[in-house]
Amino acid sequence: MSNKLLHYQVFTGTLTCVTGLRIGGSKEGIEIGGVENTIIRHPISDLPYIPGSSLKGKMRALLELKYDRIKEDGKPCGCGNCLICKVFGPHMTPHHELGPTRILVRDANLTDASRQTLETAQSDRGLMFAEVKTENIVNRKTGIAADKGLRTQERVPADTQFAFEMALRIFEGDEEDKIVNFVKEGLALLEQDYLGSSGSRGYGKIELKYKVEKK
Ligand SMILES: [Zn+2]
Repeated sequence: MSNKLLHYQVFTGTLTCVTGLRIGGSKEGIEIGGVENTIIRHPISDLPYIPGSSLKGKMRALLELKYDRIKEDGKPCGCGNCLICKVFGPHMTPHHELGPTRILVRDANLTDASRQTLETAQSDRGLMFAEVKTENIVNRKTGIAADKGLRTQERVPADTQFAFEMALRIFEGDEEDKIVNFVKEGLALLEQDYLGSSGSRGYGKIELKYKVEKK
């Protein structure tokens, strides 16, 4: 391929949390009696955000599942030939002919409206731009909640919205429509599946509204 960058196809839109969303933060700095499982936050503003790496990683993993590109060791595809490698970058494969990774996924920040909503909730109820969900850990034999069987999980409440942006670099010789449609397919899979953690327990259902523009 040529390494001539022609233009970008830019996806911009809104990500809405249909259910609570949990993307785990650092376990450091937890005080005794504090929330055990905190979410990732901006280090200065403390506002929750969705790292671009979380969006990119999950979209890639779902496309790998769909196209049966998961390797036996469970690592991402590094074949250096497939569309997943081309769009997302071949995993641990320094020598290939694909050219630069096509997709750039930005961190998704709260929309202004959601930021205001969460700020109000914070001052009213002492929340840190999030909800704290307490879950029972059930003893499998007895079916009752285990002794001290409570765990606390912080999560972004349902209905919260984030602004997201992804850019696709289009090089001379690229099959542009195919690449754009592949990313649309990945975004559709994200809506069908879940983002963050605890998807099998109802977390992380999202809805995406976006437009694609050549820039
Ligand atoms: Zn591959």
